[in-house]
Amino acid sequence: MENTITINDALEIAKAEGMGAADSAIGGYGIEYVDFKGRVLAYVNLGDTYAETICIEDDLPFIGSWGDWLESAEAEYCEDTDTIRCGYCGEFTPIDCEDWRDVVCEFCGNKLG
Ligand SMILES: [Zn+2]
Repeated sequence: MENTITINDALEIAKAEGMGAADSAIGGYGIEYVDFKGRVLAYVNLGDTYAETICIEDDLPFIGSWGDWLESAEAEYCEDTDTIRCGYCGEFTPIDCEDWRDVVCEFCGNKLG
């Protein structure tokens, strides 16, 4: 039988019965977790980073992708801490000059611009 449940139906199921029930209803591959600087997202794994799925953060279920969540969590972190993510080593290094292109990563020493 074809799975005819919509993502909105799955969201309602997640709110009423929890993430495990939403995973079963939508035919996901289980609940996965992303942890970023103290924030934790749980989501129904649909096999694609940017697939619209059921996510939950701080007990609030919503529709989104974990890839988008992580990008926005990183952007918020950079804004809040005045840092930039190094494309070489992945660490967050302080923006300590006028132009981010002049920033040298304090972890690996590469110039980011
Ligand atoms: Zn670096």
